[in-house]
Amino acid sequence: MGIMIGVIVLAAVGVSVVAMNLSMKKKGYDIPGRSIVQCSQGHYFRTLWIEGGSLKAVRLGPMKRAQRCPVCHKFRIIVPIAEAQQTDEIRAEAQRNSLE
Ligand SMILES: [Zn+2]
Repeated sequence: MGIMIGVIVLAAVGVSVVAMNLSMKKKGYDIPGRSIVQCSQGHYFRTLWIEGGSLKAVRLGPMKRAQRCPVCHKFRIIVPIAEAQQTDEIRAEAQRNSLE
């Protein structure tokens, strides 16, 4: 009985993670994927962003997390930048700053 409940909970979490990522994609974000993000100091870089599952970032809720910025080398609040908001300058800067 306990195992069944565990399996059901795991399945529900899996479905909601997939749904979250699909809705981000629809909103014009490169999520899941290597999204362009902006640190709280204004630096742009690309990082792997999978909504609902992260390995090296601290999740602060959807669309917000704390991660080490490769430009200022500090933990910063970072937010993803939607494709519609990305200019050539932003893309170029993100490309230069991405170490991954
Ligand atoms: Zn920065």
